[in-house]
Amino acid sequence: MKKPFHWLFVAVLICSMGLANQDVLAQRKKKNKKGDTEQKDKKEEKKKISELIKKHQKYEGLFDIYQDSTSGDTKVFFAMDQIGQEFIHWYYIENGAVSVSAFRGQFRGSQIIKIEKHFDKIEIISQNTSFYFDPENELSRSQEANVSHSVLFSGKILGGSEEEGGYMIAGDDLFLKEILGIVDFTQFREQPKAFKLGSLSKDKSKIKSIKNYSDNTDLVVEYVFENSKINNIESNALADARNISILVQHSLIKIPDNDYQPRFDDPRVGYFLTYVEDMTTTDPIAYRDMIHRWDLKKKDPEAAVSEPVEPITWWMENTTPMEFRATIEEAVLEWNKAFEAAGFKNAVVVKTQPDDAEWDAGDLNYNVLRWTSSPNPPFGGYGPSFVNPKTGQILGADIMLEFVYHTNRVKYAKLFEETAADNFMICSAGHHFQSNTLLGLASLKAVGASGMEMEGLKREAMKELVMHEVGHTLGLNHNMKASQRFSPAELANKELIEGQCLTGSVMDYTAINLTKDRAKQGQYYSTTVGPYDIWAITYGYYSDGSEENLEKILARSTEPDLIFGNDADDMRSPGVGIDPRVMIDDMSGDAIAYSVDRFEIIDATMKTLKDKFSEEGESYEELKMNYGILLRSQDIASRVLSRYVGGVYIDRAMVGQEGATKPYTPVSLQDQKRAMDALGKFTFSPEAFSAPAELYNYLADQRRGFNFYGGTEDPKIQERILKIQKGVLDQLMHQNTLQRLSDSYVYGNEYSLSSYMKDLNNMMFAADRYTSVNVNRRNLQVEYTQRLIDIMDEKSSHISTAKAMALYNLKSIKKMASTSSGNTATQAHRQYLVYLINQALEKA
Ligand SMILES: [Zn+2]
Repeated sequence: MKKPFHWLFVAVLICSMGLANQDVLAQRKKKNKKGDTEQKDKKEEKKKISELIKKHQKYEGLFDIYQDSTSGDTKVFFAMDQIGQEFIHWYYIENGAVSVSAFRGQFRGSQIIKIEKHFDKIEIISQNTSFYFDPENELSRSQEANVSHSVLFSGKILGGSEEEGGYMIAGDDLFLKEILGIVDFTQFREQPKAFKLGSLSKDKSKIKSIKNYSDNTDLVVEYVFENSKINNIESNALADARNISILVQHSLIKIPDNDYQPRFDDPRVGYFLTYVEDMTTTDPIAYRDMIHRWDLKKKDPEAAVSEPVEPITWWMENTTPMEFRATIEEAVLEWNKAFEAAGFKNAVVVKTQPDDAEWDAGDLNYNVLRWTSSPNPPFGGYGPSFVNPKTGQILGADIMLEFVYHTNRVKYAKLFEETAADNFMICSAGHHFQSNTLLGLASLKAVGASGMEMEGLKREAMKELVMHEVGHTLGLNHNMKASQRFSPAELANKELIEGQCLTGSVMDYTAINLTKDRAKQGQYYSTTVGPYDIWAITYGYYSDGSEENLEKILARSTEPDLIFGNDADDMRSPGVGIDPRVMIDDMSGDAIAYSVDRFEIIDATMKTLKDKFSEEGESYEELKMNYGILLRSQDIASRVLSRYVGGVYIDRAMVGQEGATKPYTPVSLQDQKRAMDALGKFTFSPEAFSAPAELYNYLADQRRGFNFYGGTEDPKIQERILKIQKGVLDQLMHQNTLQRLSDSYVYGNEYSLSSYMKDLNNMMFAADRYTSVNVNRRNLQVEYTQRLIDIMDEKSSHISTAKAMALYNLKSIKKMASTSSGNTATQAHRQYLVYLINQALEKA
């Protein structure tokens, strides 16, 4: 995540430096007009610190800050022993609005800065930490070649001297502009009409609070952005979009002076990283990437298991609803099981923030489990941490939990919005849990389950979500492959799974465990951390990190329970990723069988939906929402199935590792066919997505003010169904999928591209070849035919074998469409298909 951001950062920096220079020029011109101003300037330079800080309030700490008690202007003092030294700068959003890409608790990253004095100026220089030079190697003398640092700030010294122990600059110049980090992310929005924050107001922006400690200086700054020309902003989170405030906390932090040893990354285990390249090695792999982890040290280094000198302490924010507190605490403490395997007892501790606490969540000394209820949150949980960029040591973390994701409140249309692909730091687990939980609740309601059982389900969901977010703050990234752990039969064995993690890791986004046979229903979610989590924590935190020990731990990566694949490999977007097991919203070691079960559960739930969700005296909104949840769940199950076609399993084991298979093994012909059969039945058949006919008249939203304005409120069922089918065709006909089907032939794939494309054609046309074609199928057949035409187009980048098969299929469709059976709509439809094909063939 850091790399692309880095470049943006530099680009914007250059811009803002340009502006800063113009400011200085303008000021000089003004002063020259006044005649004696230059003389005055010189006098000011000689000012003593004692004169500069008259009537100022002093905030003593790492960097002393003085604030003028009349104007509020600030001054920062840099002591002599701080000049030439490095510090950490870290900033985060204390408050903002989701619609302007700056939301409460959002971490914005840390960097190493160096304070320098250059003649009459103090400079702040951002250091480049991406490269490593072995100090013993002669090449290290050239380590600055073509590696740029960035001068973030150059501020005139107002006063001070060596004798006075340091120098002083104007704090407002440093903090009230976007100097240390970018605040406005809307400037990077690409859509031409996207809302932009506008310009930063110098007059309105201000330092809101200063907190100073011996190891860190924290300032909360209110940045006010003005934009008189507002458009496209529909967020009522902003009182008046012409003036938007974003509260940012900047922290300047002393680099920890400790014996922390970085631990290096390995492709078999998933940690967040600080990327470093070794520039002096001759090794073909020059990675020196450091994993993010806390500095845990044993109190008793000799003991096999010891308490840490300093545990990782979590503070539950006092805004957390009482009824959730016990579950949250339990979830956090589950991680102690993983730390015990790594040699630590009570590594994680939970405390509750007192109602009258004088510290707040922004305080670096507290890791806070925050709880908010904000409009349109982008996540249900978010677990960021920040690190020392020199070592990867985690210095602080927070977890944000959003109330709305623990309610059964969701808008029908919202259900079908794609959750933005994670930027690897923002976690959308909350979305996934919510839609899964709502499906669980709907299916429970359909079978008349008790209220207590439903509450239990919700508690399990919250526990898993919190475990997941805590996992992020310990350094772990996602493991989207972990759902392989149990077979569908094992997941339907309630004794077996009781008290277990249903997957290898809580760092996955799994489907809720719903069992078709209610009598066999066990746990819905994981209630503890999984074997992968325990193993990964052991790798990251085992105190004797000798190469031999770490190698021993890593050698276990081939155990089935420790299987791992992160977001970079996952197949949530069509055409991306190759291993169908690295998928979100799937479940079990046989996701094909599991998805088939899921469709059957949904079908059963659909039958009683109207009955169960029509509450006397209430509107039909809840009914419509639950219909949406069922449809969305069918959508998800279809996508999971589609990833098996042309899939290739990945194994990242090292050469000669025990239990290793080949790096690439194509999915068996049998499983590819099973996935195709299931898609043929549940996603594309004439009966797919059917619901009781009497349901449709009731799928109505509740009116609120003028909310139907600008659109039509009818449920548009056909459009919704076609959209789901299109999403699956995106994968099934993607150039990468078709290329892989052909390409993997040389390493063992038995499903040839030609027989696959023939099967696909049959799936679209065979069932109603001699009968009338219903409206959903007509929509689908036109869509599919159009896509074949597009593949054949000379501009398409599909491989030639795929283009040839597209032509072959079009000719076969033309033949099938030339029958005279079916009703008028069907005949018209078939004539239209022939027309489309003829047109395309003439062009070709
Ligand atoms: Zn996550």
